[in-house]
Amino acid sequence: MKRIFGLLILMLLLSCKSSESQIRSHVEFLSSDDIQGRATGSNGIERSAHYIASKFKDFGVQPYFNTYRDEFIAKGIEAFNVVGFIEGNDPDLKNEFIIIGAHYDHVGTGKSERGKRSSTALDTIANGANDNASGTATVMAIGKHFAQNKTNKRSILLTLFSAEELGLLGSEHLAKRLKKENLDLYTMINFEMTGVPFPDRDYVAFVSGYHLSNMAAKINEYTNSNLIGESVEAKKFDLFKRSDNYPFYEEFGIPCQTISSCDLTNYDYYHHVDDETDKLDYVHMTNLVNQLIPAFEKICNTTTKEIKMN
Ligand SMILES: [Zn+2]
Repeated sequence: MKRIFGLLILMLLLSCKSSESQIRSHVEFLSSDDIQGRATGSNGIERSAHYIASKFKDFGVQPYFNTYRDEFIAKGIEAFNVVGFIEGNDPDLKNEFIIIGAHYDHVGTGKSERGKRSSTALDTIANGANDNASGTATVMAIGKHFAQNKTNKRSILLTLFSAEELGLLGSEHLAKRLKKENLDLYTMINFEMTGVPFPDRDYVAFVSGYHLSNMAAKINEYTNSNLIGESVEAKKFDLFKRSDNYPFYEEFGIPCQTISSCDLTNYDYYHHVDDETDKLDYVHMTNLVNQLIPAFEKICNTTTKEIKMN
């Protein structure tokens, strides 16, 4: 009896916490040499989309459109976002939406470098582990939590974008499509490069466009921590306009921002063939996901839309 009770507690804990091994396995699949750097239109991105959709199905995430794919043409190339849906459990609030997104494409191949496997082989595959298999795995882990625990009153869209690296084309397409269908969007939170921690900050991650809204303050209030801060470098590099939050902000004029733990000062391999799985810190990634889940729970469940533009 005691053993069964212990087992139940363990199962409960496991169902609430995202596991490091799952996050690592998502990153490892998406960043393997087989996937060839996930360039838009490639066989590797086709396989990545299939992987994400099949995981969505396993988790109980529904397709939002007829299928999980949201198709568009990016500079003459057939491309598709992957869009999952977790319906809210409140009859009224479920008509309001939260988007949790990340781009899953990358640049394909890059300037050749001496490969790590052999001293003579040249590695030309830009695996994009931090950029942005890390953000993709983060969205998948948060999505899994809500699909399985069903604790969200508002509805959630999980959006994995293609053609970000070609100029935010996937997010631009989807933002326009959702605006056209008059989606009641509360907020859009995007993830970029969450695979490495800052060595020197008093917060874990920053939000781009820090001063545009009260998002950072609200997430910190909801988690009773100093999880999210301001990066001066992010502002200098204008990161607010350089990721998939931006087309949503442009269409909807509401808080649409990117959470990241890399502002280009704390990682040497941005768009580099050495942006590989062994460079990431999976404990950091998992902790960030598990600290953010209570914040998302609040965002999904407060009676009013508390995150506002300043
Ligand atoms: Zn990126």
